[in-house]
Amino acid sequence: MNDVPAASSHDADDCARVLKRVYEFLDNELDNADGAEIRQHLAACEPCLERFDVEQAVKSLVHRHCGNDQAPSHLRDKVLGQLAAAQRRAFEQA
Ligand SMILES: [Zn+2]
Repeated sequence: MNDVPAASSHDADDCARVLKRVYEFLDNELDNADGAEIRQHLAACEPCLERFDVEQAVKSLVHRHCGNDQAPSHLRDKVLGQLAAAQRRAFEQA
């Protein structure tokens, strides 16, 4: 895939891409291949996990769906559950 040995497993471009798309991932707008890539990246990259603010993601989703910043608890639970499940699956695949 990439014939240049990585100095570090942490690729800032990868991170930027993943963090930008993780909201689409949570919103199920990504196809399976992209979703898997994001899951694996989040599982392998602690900086991304730390930077990925779940509360912010929930607000963003709610804003898009409902037009306000108050997260209905069922939507919040759904997003948190999806993230937890994604992390579990990513770790199992690693
Ligand atoms: Zn990263």
